[in-house]
Amino acid sequence: MDLTTLPKTELHMHLDGSIPMELTWQLMTEYRLNPRPTLEETERLLTMQPEDETSLLAYLDKFSYPLWITQFYENIQGATIAILDRLAALNVTLAELRYSPIVHTYAGLTVRQAIRAVLSGMNHARKAHGMRVGLIVIAMRQHGPHIAKILARQAIAEGQRFHRRSGVVGFDIAGAERGNPPGLFREAFLLARHGGLGLTVHAGEDEGPRSVWEAVDELGARRIGHGCSALQDMTLVQRLARDRILVECCVTSNYQTGAVPRGARHPIFTFLEHGVPVAICVDNATVSRTDSVRESALVADEVGLDEVIRIHRQAREFSFIAADAPSGSGNPDGEAREP
Ligand SMILES: [Zn+2]
Repeated sequence: MDLTTLPKTELHMHLDGSIPMELTWQLMTEYRLNPRPTLEETERLLTMQPEDETSLLAYLDKFSYPLWITQFYENIQGATIAILDRLAALNVTLAELRYSPIVHTYAGLTVRQAIRAVLSGMNHARKAHGMRVGLIVIAMRQHGPHIAKILARQAIAEGQRFHRRSGVVGFDIAGAERGNPPGLFREAFLLARHGGLGLTVHAGEDEGPRSVWEAVDELGARRIGHGCSALQDMTLVQRLARDRILVECCVTSNYQTGAVPRGARHPIFTFLEHGVPVAICVDNATVSRTDSVRESALVADEVGLDEVIRIHRQAREFSFIAADAPSGSGNPDGEAREP
């Protein structure tokens, strides 16, 4: 078995940062919204370049461009299908995609439609590839705790248990960490948990271990996105191991945002040494110019293929997609129902 044929699990992948460049260019051309005259120049804007500053803010800046075209139902649906087609080609057999529906409502979509557009694309991919898929709804930290509560309610209303096929499976916060500590979002996470959603939190990417502690203690996170700074506090690492809290590790992205300094060993290896469950994740295929095979190879280089096989298998147990949710291949349903 090689890394391409190995069945892989993707638990942390942003929809807006992973839209294939060709589709983005095609849609930008249709809407006459090309920020640069050629595909090559536009691609440089939308993807991390070696000369780009390694900071979370520089990284987040790349997301402003795809947002121009993902304000329309069919485009969101099409982007979801294109992303999942690529994942299927790399033998990713379980994929949780995540996105913030609220920043896709600027052209008049409702939050519900913005969520349903992704679910509709997911239904197509499930049928075409027999993949297990689910959506994690993100509340942006900078929108504050009240908007997060509104979104949590909307996410629950589109929860997997209310759908025969794809549904919302989890809740997350993302965006600049500084000034927006997890504790602010306590009520939103309480709601999401009571509504049956899995809880994950972007933490310890741009802030110290305190952020990860808060995500675990105050929000009840069962998974942590990135969690790099947890290494500064070995009591926290032991806690993650003891309570089986999985860290969604995104190796390439972490070097690009400066969460891990260039040349430093990636935290995933320390997590593994201390028994912390981890997943190998892409974060943003387009922005980071990577994919599941490349990320798996980066880890396999140090720990070997067998360990990577084990990591992907174990990560499935931490998926928020319910074990009894129907998979695409055995699903007798027809086409996706639109809202
Ligand atoms: Zn992320």
